[in-house]
Amino acid sequence: MKNGRAKHHEIGEPPARARFRRSGAAIWLPVSILLGLAIGWIATQVGMRFAPLAVFPLAVGVVLGVCLVGMTRLLQTGHRVTVFLAMMLAVLVAAGSQHYFSYLDARRLIEEDNRRVQQSPSALKAQAAFAELINDRLPQGPIDYMCRQASIGRPMPFGYVARGPMAWISWFFDGLLILLAAIAVVWFGCRQSFCDGCMSWYCTIRSGHLSPRQAKRLAELTGFDIPDGSTSPRDMHYSLSGCRGGCGPEQLCVTWQLSERGTCTATVWLDNDKKKQVSEIIDQDGD
Ligand SMILES: [Zn+2]
Repeated sequence: MKNGRAKHHEIGEPPARARFRRSGAAIWLPVSILLGLAIGWIATQVGMRFAPLAVFPLAVGVVLGVCLVGMTRLLQTGHRVTVFLAMMLAVLVAAGSQHYFSYLDARRLIEEDNRRVQQSPSALKAQAAFAELINDRLPQGPIDYMCRQASIGRPMPFGYVARGPMAWISWFFDGLLILLAAIAVVWFGCRQSFCDGCMSWYCTIRSGHLSPRQAKRLAELTGFDIPDGSTSPRDMHYSLSGCRGGCGPEQLCVTWQLSERGTCTATVWLDNDKKKQVSEIIDQDGD
């Protein structure tokens, strides 16, 4: 350990990667579409009032990512490719539906406007004179609406207005920011292991501090090296993770804060024999 860099050791066999399940994938198809539509609709409503450039699509991506991670826990889906494809679909639907909901909103406002004109006797003459102009305000579809919005332009910082292709490029980047934020959240939220035996995500069972004596005994039992330079016992921390059913190997993670401002982590996968022995050592009073 030099220059305060983190060092990581892993010992033992982690649980096998989650298998693909057709039933899981079939559930995720409607789930990701509905989630994308719900986030797209909420983003449209919020975006009409407040939508700071770049920050807003990132926030949409974070919310979408959090919802997706929540759904992986609710549906107990651990197959990463299924989750990744569901995320891509949800982002696509969320980004696309924002434009569609904006189109529906604009259409509704124009139709309400037209109805008001028709009901107003004083405006009847104007309506007749400008009938063609009024009808022309109504977009023919979502693509036509987006083309019109692109020709009007999108206000950007420093007084710049993105028109035509630049407006389309700015929308593309909005979608990209949603995707990047969602990837970051889903990656972080799904970094834990998954047990295919009991179909559950690993979660922390217990955690705390270790005395040097406990750390030494754990090292002897599981085979990791205690690095030189470990400071006070307060700096030795452990966490024990496992699946809900207790059928998979448990994950023991021991972290040291080194005197050189670096950290050292040892991850050990415990089989059934070691699980009990590790618990006994941790249950002992540290001294
Ligand atoms: Zn399990």
